[in-house]
Amino acid sequence: MADLAVQDGPAPTERPVGDPLVVLSGVDKHFGALHVLQGVDLTVRRGEVVVIIGPSGSGKSTLCRTINRLETIDAGTITIDGKELPSEGRDLARLRADVGMVFQSFNLFAHRTVLENVTLGPTRAKGVKKAAARERAMELLRRVGVADQAHKLPAQLSGGQQQRVAIARALAMDPKVMLFDEPTSALDPEMINEVLDVMVGLARDGMTMLVVTHEMGFARRAAHRVVFMDGGQIVEQADPETFFTAPTSARARDFLSKIL
Ligand code: ADP
Ligand code: MG
Repeated sequence: MADLAVQDGPAPTERPVGDPLVVLSGVDKHFGALHVLQGVDLTVRRGEVVVIIGPSGSGKSTLCRTINRLETIDAGTITIDGKELPSEGRDLARLRADVGMVFQSFNLFAHRTVLENVTLGPTRAKGVKKAAARERAMELLRRVGVADQAHKLPAQLSGGQQQRVAIARALAMDPKVMLFDEPTSALDPEMINEVLDVMVGLARDGMTMLVVTHEMGFARRAAHRVVFMDGGQIVEQADPETFFTAPTSARARDFLSKIL
């Protein structure tokens, strides 16, 4: 299998994208009086990498969480590979399995080894045989560069290594799309690149990805499109080069002036 840390390859915009895989249409979400998602329309195509940026509190995490129904929505629809997400039931569990999620805090099972963290989902939720799950897990751990840590507990690993295990764990479920919610913001600076390199490799292998991050380097290396959110709305979207060099909205310009 290809080494995910390989740096060269085609520019993101040269990678082809396919048909719509994740489609949000008129999505509304309230927390009490707070209107956190306001009629959000967003399409992510097969093989596409979309980066979401925006100020704290603009609804980025909530948007991610609605896509695998960690949050319900008040109005609108979300379809994944042509099937509308139901609010509950067996179909929900099946559709949710199509969506891999990596959080800021790695959320590994603390009392399970690295290898067990990667095999538990497939054996329990997908009925994969133990031996097959272990073989696949080792392949994924090699791919993210932590195979030599397989028999340790998460706490014995660095933050960057733990986050790479979390990516391997999500991949083990064979998701159709991977969501990343600020995957490097809890990491020490020297560990950020080892995680971003794995994500860039994943993008170049054609994974469909929705990534909340303020890492402009990642957006430039891997994203087809940057989506800027503010106040629960998508304010502006463009390819990374256009967005970072010539944002059109005052809100995006203001935001970029604070983080660049
Ligand atoms: P971001 O990820 O862009 O920082 P969030 O999606 O986390 O934004 O939050 C959007 C808004 O919704 C914020 O004002 C936040 O305080 C609020 N919020 C998020 N989750 C909840 C919740 N479970 N209950 C109430 N308010 C929430
Ligand atoms: Mg957030």
